[in-house]
Amino acid sequence: MQSLSERTAGFTDSVIRRMTRVSMKYDAVNLSQGFPDFEPPAQVLDRLAQVAHEDYHQYSITWGAQDFREALAAKQSRFMGRTIDPNSEIVTTCGSTEAMMAAMMTVTNTGDKVIIFSPFYENYGADTILSGAEPIYVPLNPPTFTFDADVLEAAFKQHPKALVLCNPSNPCGKVFTRDELLVIADMAQKYDTYVITDEVYEHIVYAPHKHTYFATLPGMWERTISCSSLSKTYSITGWRLGYIIAPPRIIDRAKKVHDFLTVGAAAPLQEAVIPGLQFGQDYYDDLLAKYTHKKDLFLKGLDDLDIPHTDPEGAYYVLLDISEFGYDSDLRFCEDLASKVGVGAVPGSSFFREPVNNLIRLHFAKKDETLLDALNRLADLRKKIPQK
Ligand code: GLN
Repeated sequence: MQSLSERTAGFTDSVIRRMTRVSMKYDAVNLSQGFPDFEPPAQVLDRLAQVAHEDYHQYSITWGAQDFREALAAKQSRFMGRTIDPNSEIVTTCGSTEAMMAAMMTVTNTGDKVIIFSPFYENYGADTILSGAEPIYVPLNPPTFTFDADVLEAAFKQHPKALVLCNPSNPCGKVFTRDELLVIADMAQKYDTYVITDEVYEHIVYAPHKHTYFATLPGMWERTISCSSLSKTYSITGWRLGYIIAPPRIIDRAKKVHDFLTVGAAAPLQEAVIPGLQFGQDYYDDLLAKYTHKKDLFLKGLDDLDIPHTDPEGAYYVLLDISEFGYDSDLRFCEDLASKVGVGAVPGSSFFREPVNNLIRLHFAKKDETLLDALNRLADLRKKIPQK
């Protein structure tokens, strides 16, 4: 038989999703794939129960149900500080995952280059491969995960079509400062490059850090494709609701790409989440207070156990330094962590372009009792995984 596509021949499965399966196999507390184990807001769940008996069981308009887009446009206009047109400036997608893929396919041709900061969320590499583009990786240097402007400019000099910006950043928890974003914006302007953002953690930014929407920087609206989702903001990762916001010229094309990729996001779920989109500022303050509490609880627990770790400025991930255990493979370490200690984590090597094997990623989007259970298990870490 003829071979399958060359483009996908080098694909492995997603290590993030694989670690969820490994966690299940060993009945480990799963802090690998980032999703909450607490309930979405009651108003959204109540509406979901009603929607089952209403007329929302057929396709919505391909680029999103009208009332969903109107509610989303109102919310994002408020947060982004500019009026977003629900008809010409939004495409509703199946999660930010599809939004990013559709954005990449909307702007790139085969062979085009795309700048990706490393560490990066693992889908971006796959997105570039599927759209035939070639990544140029620019390191974010630990411990602050800042970039070197000269290294970034050297990447821009290769005339990339786009730059991918995950802000707040998964997995390193970096929140780009306005000044850093202005450096990127200047170069995007100078080298005529699109910026595809992934802002799914836009509402999980710890004080004193602040989220700046890249599209709102001077001159950037025209060249920014803002991708985000409702997954993290309303604790509904399984609903697969995401979106692209961009100027009409880009959205017009993205609507077609999205239509042929998936036709549309689930109609009943778009309807059910509208009360969430209509929440006032209190909801977002409470969400941040909840995650700040979880971060403090989990990081203090790690400190008490003397486990070195990063201090995230945003999102809900922490990188643990496992150098002391002397493993050559962080994947092997994560397998041992799941099977012997009973905690699921993601090997850091699945996020870094550089040969990093001394970091693992845990997330803290879990009930306090789940986090305490994980910390309890981690207390035996050095007993169950002896240093080599
Ligand atoms: N963003 C989450 C993570 O990094 C989950 C992503 C996914 O599996 N779609 O773990």
